[in-house]
Amino acid sequence: MKKKVFICVIILLCGYFGFVAYMFNSNFYIKEFTKSDEIFQKIKGKSYKDDCIVPVSELRYVHIFHRDFKGRVRKGELIVNKHIAQDVLEIFKQLYKAGYEIESVRLIDEFNADDEISMENNNSSSFNFRFITHSKKVSKHGYGLAIDINPLYNPYYKKTDVGEEIVEPINAKEYVDRTKDFKHKIDENDLAYKLFIKHGFEWGGDWKSCKDYQHFEVSDDVVDKLYN
Ligand SMILES: [Zn+2]
Repeated sequence: MKKKVFICVIILLCGYFGFVAYMFNSNFYIKEFTKSDEIFQKIKGKSYKDDCIVPVSELRYVHIFHRDFKGRVRKGELIVNKHIAQDVLEIFKQLYKAGYEIESVRLIDEFNADDEISMENNNSSSFNFRFITHSKKVSKHGYGLAIDINPLYNPYYKKTDVGEEIVEPINAKEYVDRTKDFKHKIDENDLAYKLFIKHGFEWGGDWKSCKDYQHFEVSDDVVDKLYN
């Protein structure tokens, strides 16, 4: 009798953990899409601008779960380049499992593809087509080969030759001083930093002429191999 109960408990536990694993994996997935799909309608004319030269076939929709700043489970959506989609999925799985907090992971199109507004709302995102200023080269976000995490707490910062300080987003000034201790700060001890580096990304916090603490990207060599 005891043996039967034991077997029943084992079966129930296997079923339970199997179900949990199924639910987990069914919320972390990558989707290919075409111009006739609903996903494209959301990005058309916004992050996928009319002059976009990156074929839709190079992009992927990534669906994830993440924890927000109150620890609640939230659905997240990203458009990234197909060459990093699997890495991005794995990184977000690890972050979710570790309880890492990311406030918002919504398509930048929900912010009318306005990078500044998306950042001001601390939204993490990747693809947003644009050329590098004064050039015909596509930026890494333009290829979906760069990703920004919790941008409000991890701003872009540059001091120009004439001493002007540029902070993006504009409401992130209190997070420019990285000697300060505050939550959601990305530095070398941060899990997102460790995972992105492990997956071969470079970090904007390591740059010399400016700092982009929210920003992870594939190296110039990889971009050149893929697109130039
Ligand atoms: Zn960025």
